Amino acid sequence: MLDLQAADSKLDHLAHRRSTLPEAAELESLAAEHARLRDAEVVASTTVSDLEREQKRADTDVEQVRTRKARDQKRLDDGQVASPKELENLQSEIASLERRQSVLEDTELEVMERLEQAQREAESTASERESVGRKAQEVQAARDAAWAEIDQEAASVRDERAAIAAEMPDELLSLYEKIRSERDGVGAAALHQKRCEGCRLQLDAAELNHIRGLAPEVVVRHEECRRILVRTAESGV
Ligand SMILES: [Zn+2]
Repeated sequence: MLDLQAADSKLDHLAHRRSTLPEAAELESLAAEHARLRDAEVVASTTVSDLEREQKRADTDVEQVRTRKARDQKRLDDGQVASPKELENLQSEIASLERRQSVLEDTELEVMERLEQAQREAESTASERESVGRKAQEVQAARDAAWAEIDQEAASVRDERAAIAAEMPDELLSLYEKIRSERDGVGAAALHQKRCEGCRLQLDAAELNHIRGLAPEVVVRHEECRRILVRTAESGV
């Protein structure tokens, strides 16, 4: 009876260990971190492509002004413009284009800096996500190995338990199961030095006297906790 209880307690303990493995909790938090980084990566790469478009636009703007200025300059250099009024207009347009080009080049530079910053962020997010992914794989492997070990041990304890249960009368077995389900997984306990090992209470003299008078094959139950009390050489009765 005590062997059966020991096997059941062992199985309960293994099931508890299986469900509270630190690796499983760590894996959960890594998975959450991985999902967060994946979202951040999407945001970062969207920012990068937005800025790439903005940079192309800034490049085109600068190029247009530069071309127009070169054309005006060529007209000026070729001496094609004779009228002083027209010459003045042309020079003023070139000056204005130069100012415009300088403003556009500042914008172009600023967009480029923002793009480089965004690219660095996207790269670091991606590499962080990859490293979290690798760590998650390691932890998952460790969790699976721990599970496999626990499952293997549980299978062997279940075999032992089945062998023990097969030797027991059905009635006693179902009484034990019933008490076990109602009393924190402990259906049977040793009577050890006048104490119930199930509830840890000392038995009083009257109860001990009563137990002393019972034949060894009689199933004894502790009055206090109703568990099956198993008499041993160290029971003190
Ligand atoms: Zn008890």
